[in-house]
Amino acid sequence: MQLESMYQEIILDHYKNPHGRGLREPFEAEVHHVNPTCGDEVTLRVHLGKDAAGDPVLSDVSYEGMGCSISQASVSAMYDLVIGKSVPQALETGDHFMTLMQAKGDPSVAEKLEDELEDAVAFAGVSKYPARIKCALMSWMALKDASARALSSAHPAAPTGGSTA
Ligand code: ZN
Repeated sequence: MQLESMYQEIILDHYKNPHGRGLREPFEAEVHHVNPTCGDEVTLRVHLGKDAAGDPVLSDVSYEGMGCSISQASVSAMYDLVIGKSVPQALETGDHFMTLMQAKGDPSVAEKLEDELEDAVAFAGVSKYPARIKCALMSWMALKDASARALSSAHPAAPTGGSTA
């Protein structure tokens, strides 16, 4: 099928020429995620900035990884999608990607999410193979984890005990 070969080409292209790869400074959080079923690994850093409204945005997402082409291409496609977005927007995009991964290859789901997911819609075919879904999701799990850690380090919890005045 023509669409599938186009999707495969997009994945292969991200794998061969990853966007935004490399670990950069500064960063507020770094996480390391592994997908033991396939042997995929990613180390991902998040650097937060602020948008005009003062809300945290992903100024940089940098990473290093190793593993199968799906896992590594997924980080690269994710980078393009989330860079410059606010954290809630990026996590919402992650939810759309999760929906795609649960579509069991249903092409109508991919069609609906095309605008939100851009190149990441190319992973639609992966949703037919339960063993590979974790490969594609690893980067998004790492992003969610790193964003949460970066936010909590940017807004430390109020100290407990003592005066609350
Ligand atoms: Zn994998």
